Amino acid sequence: MCGIVAYLGKQKAEPILIKGLKRLEYRGYDSTGIALIENDELQVHKKKGKVAELETELSAQSFKSSIGIGHTRWATHGEPNDVNAHPHYSADQSLAVIHNGIIENYRSLKTELQKKGYSFKSDTDTEVFATFLQDVKTSNDLNLEDAVRLALSRVVGAYAIVILSKEEPDTLIAARKGSPMVIGVGKGEYFVASDATPIVEYTNNVIYLNDEEVAIIKSDSLEITDLKDIPLTPKIHEIDIALDEIEKGGYEHFMLKEIFEQPKSIADCMRGRLKMPEQTLILGGIQKYTDALIQAEKITFIACGTSWHAGLVAEYIFEEFCRIPVEVQYASEYRYRNPIVKPGEIVIAISQSGETADTLAAIEIAQRRGAIVLGIVNAVGSSISRVTDEGAYLHAGPEIGVASTKAFTAQLTVLSMMAIKAALLKGTITDSTFRELLNELNDIPAKVAKALTLNDKIKEISATFKDAHNFLYLGRGYNFPVALEGALKLKEISYIHAEGYPAAEMKHGPIALIDENMPVVFIATRDSSYDKIISNIQEVKSRKGKVIAVVTEGDVLIPGMADYTIEVPATHEALMPLVSVVPLQLLSYHIAVMRGANVDQPRNLAKSVTVE
Ligand code: GLU
Repeated sequence: MCGIVAYLGKQKAEPILIKGLKRLEYRGYDSTGIALIENDELQVHKKKGKVAELETELSAQSFKSSIGIGHTRWATHGEPNDVNAHPHYSADQSLAVIHNGIIENYRSLKTELQKKGYSFKSDTDTEVFATFLQDVKTSNDLNLEDAVRLALSRVVGAYAIVILSKEEPDTLIAARKGSPMVIGVGKGEYFVASDATPIVEYTNNVIYLNDEEVAIIKSDSLEITDLKDIPLTPKIHEIDIALDEIEKGGYEHFMLKEIFEQPKSIADCMRGRLKMPEQTLILGGIQKYTDALIQAEKITFIACGTSWHAGLVAEYIFEEFCRIPVEVQYASEYRYRNPIVKPGEIVIAISQSGETADTLAAIEIAQRRGAIVLGIVNAVGSSISRVTDEGAYLHAGPEIGVASTKAFTAQLTVLSMMAIKAALLKGTITDSTFRELLNELNDIPAKVAKALTLNDKIKEISATFKDAHNFLYLGRGYNFPVALEGALKLKEISYIHAEGYPAAEMKHGPIALIDENMPVVFIATRDSSYDKIISNIQEVKSRKGKVIAVVTEGDVLIPGMADYTIEVPATHEALMPLVSVVPLQLLSYHIAVMRGANVDQPRNLAKSVTVE
């Protein structure tokens, strides 16, 4: 949440900041701002709204500054407006601060500062920090970096923070705790950002700042210390993100591009892992703990949102193939519920961004109590990938659309591979089942590509239902989590109220909602609960509900009952979510576009939930 970008070098900072903010806008987009040093003055330009609006406002001016900081906000403290937008000045306007996260003790700091006579313009916790830093600096007569370290050691909460000072106009100070921050190291120039997307077009060399580290960046030097001023040796990583991965490439929205990328992203996820001629499956990232995994008495998945749905699918797969009991926990609940963790227990954390604050906190608790924590993460180098004991990357490429699509199917791919491999090693599936599943997995990209050819038909169905006020999504077995995911996609981007349920649960409540105005999406592919879901469709039809059914190609029964049918290719039922979710992604996409919603940046949401 929230995008941070900063630049120090020889180029003009303003265009780099604006371009970087546009790349980061998917992380937060309620207001935006930059700070520059112009003619020895520390200038802040900020406003409510999108980066493009700020860009237009600034276009009449020319800026010379070759240092600057920029922010695109996802408000936590104070409504999105011009005043609450970042950067925030300190009271004396000598410092400008951008911040991602929450300063939890900002109220007590604010009271302390008010008693000293300071006043505040905004409602944010960030402005309090800016003035607190100024006060720490002046009252202790410290230079900026010492003041930052001292001030941060008194801060409770999470932050990724960058500070620009009028008195030290050739220095950027960056620090983090709990919120992501990457430093790009170019030739005679440095970049700081919440993730690598604004950096990749300038350099592939990055340093991931760790919690409670402070970077002191000058044009000719980069120094990293901890909060006690102990110098640290930064490790430079090479990143591998192509520019076209973070651009729309001719699609109207990132979300549509990412939906259509799925045949490739799933294949990328399996590349080098699933070897067809040899009929082998190797997950290089999870070698050390393979034995622990297959001997596990229980596996606990921790995740949020769409990743939690991927965990639910994994629950079915691991229980069926590996015969290991599985629990799927919301990370936000797990972290506060005093979980029972046996030493050596396997916990698997799932997160697209690898920065999800609740998941990170849940991992910490699990590890403290002796669990082995594996990470299933998309963003390379992210916090979760670094703190977990082992893990597997999704290799789905950057996901920019706020509503997750290709990361979900890549999560399912990795989790399926893990379960199938563990089951083979454990002996809970036969060699021939293993080979059958491998072949099915190998065919998934082609089947997803086929499901995508339904785009026009789904667009037509979307036009019929675009004005609905409610939707119900029902599925059984492996398709139950798909129902949840379909409902979540619709809610997120179209703002239509939608509920996902196990189809049989309908009778225990939601059936009361069904009338001729209620669209009900059934994910009713041919599997072991096919006969049962047919009965559920009939129950809905008897109450005049409008049925949209996702069925297996060649189904002859359901098209006779449903109002609309969408036929997807057949696969093993355990892998069907990889295919059956695709029409639901397209349905929510088209409905949202037809309602005029901002699909890539839905209201109130942001990618990468780095606050709890
Ligand atoms: N807590 C800060 C605010 O509300 C930062 C929010 C963000 O991460 O964008 O302004």
